[in-house]
Amino acid sequence: MRFVATILIFFIFNAQGICAEKIVSSNAEAYQALKKSNPGDQLIFKNGEYKNIQLIIDRSGTQNNMIIIKAKNPGKVFFTGDAKVELRGSYIVFEGFIFRNGKRNPENWKPHGPGLVAIYGSFNRITQCVFDNFDEAHSAWITTSLYEKGDVPTHCRIDHCSFTNKLTFDQVINLNNTPKKDTVGGPAMYHRVDHCFFSNPKKPGNAGGGIRIGYYRNDTGRCIIDSNLFVRQDSEPEIITGKSRENIYYANTFLNCQGTLNFRHGDKQAAINNFFISTDSLYGYGGMFIWGSDHIIANNYFSLRKTIASRGRAAIYLNVGTKASEHALAYNSYLINNIFSNVNGYAIHFNPMIENRKIFAQQENKPLEFPRDIYLFNNIFYNKQYSSYPFIKDDYQDIIRNLNWKNNYYDGSSLGIKPTEGLEPDEMKTERFNDDFLMPTTAGSINKYNNFKFYNISFVDFDIQTKITEGLRGEPLSINEVLPRWMTAFTGNYYHTGILDKELKNI
Ligand code: CA
Repeated sequence: MRFVATILIFFIFNAQGICAEKIVSSNAEAYQALKKSNPGDQLIFKNGEYKNIQLIIDRSGTQNNMIIIKAKNPGKVFFTGDAKVELRGSYIVFEGFIFRNGKRNPENWKPHGPGLVAIYGSFNRITQCVFDNFDEAHSAWITTSLYEKGDVPTHCRIDHCSFTNKLTFDQVINLNNTPKKDTVGGPAMYHRVDHCFFSNPKKPGNAGGGIRIGYYRNDTGRCIIDSNLFVRQDSEPEIITGKSRENIYYANTFLNCQGTLNFRHGDKQAAINNFFISTDSLYGYGGMFIWGSDHIIANNYFSLRKTIASRGRAAIYLNVGTKASEHALAYNSYLINNIFSNVNGYAIHFNPMIENRKIFAQQENKPLEFPRDIYLFNNIFYNKQYSSYPFIKDDYQDIIRNLNWKNNYYDGSSLGIKPTEGLEPDEMKTERFNDDFLMPTTAGSINKYNNFKFYNISFVDFDIQTKITEGLRGEPLSINEVLPRWMTAFTGNYYHTGILDKELKNI
């Protein structure tokens, strides 16, 4: 290892021997230093703006000696202009950069293609990076992308990043495992997205929301999306679109978001201990929209001061449709230990968007079926504020569908369906989470039907059974619980106001 022109190199020792700490202050220096990066090396960017940087990292670290690429001082290193980053190696940490004032050529970028930061290798980590209203090219900001020969990146982590004011098409984050909608099905990805912050204004049409996982129902995700905070994640009706099997969504907070967490394609997904809440009635806000089967929706908390009219005004929507189709029937799923507290709408809607679904079934020449084999245990329905909505919306009660109600209690609004055993009135006590939210409690509910045996996701370290048994834990997240303090200087105003800043323009 030699000193290279103008690049400062320090040597540090670790378990594997000598590693270099290379400090760079220009794009050219960074490119040069990268060429010779070895496991354990650190590439450190001095304060400043790195305009038009094209950082292609094809070196790899190892499990114990990752290559670390980072800002010397977080909050002081900016990637601007015609920038892109590609992590083509594995075991790389990319840390502390700010992406803003971008100017990529829109013709070179497209939705569903590689993102501004494209991860091709496995075991890579993007941490403490800021993305704010980057530019006008229509691409995702971070993708896991397939190599030309088709290898799928696995085991990557995106954490403590901030994504705000994206006005271009495509999601913020796309986690990919097939070249396109494929009948074979992409392999498991095992990524984790955690402690990130999302706040993005509404865009026209179906333009891409916060996160997409996979493409279609045969893909396997096995990703964990946890401890993220979504505030006014309004881009489109899907806050997150789970388009693969076996993903877990845990302990996320959705505050004042004009959309829903969607189990869109792919069966066997689990949403556990998430908070779907709103503190105002500026817009309609959502909970979850469920397509497909074998899902678990447990220990979630819903309190919405206004719900989404176009979806049918509810906290949870269960899709009417045909099994395994584009608009797959919701069936054989569990709703357990969920708390609905003062939802200005229905708690559960069993036939949302029915007119659209009738048309779809006709076009596809397939039978229209209604949600069935749904197991509802230990849920609490409380509503003392918006009594015009009954708790349940089901216009097809007479069709036999095996809805299993056990140990559910309600207080306040009317039921909306015929009296049902296992769904009983109860005078509830409430306590406060904080100034905004009431937590209703009832004597008999929690844990009674938790002796059910729930599956875990293979090779994913998350004990679903234990989590369900514990019941709802914690409180809604705040921004300072997910982002390091320095990052909040770059998150803009939209999440406070819900109104686009004057200097931002929509597409
Ligand atoms: Ca969408």
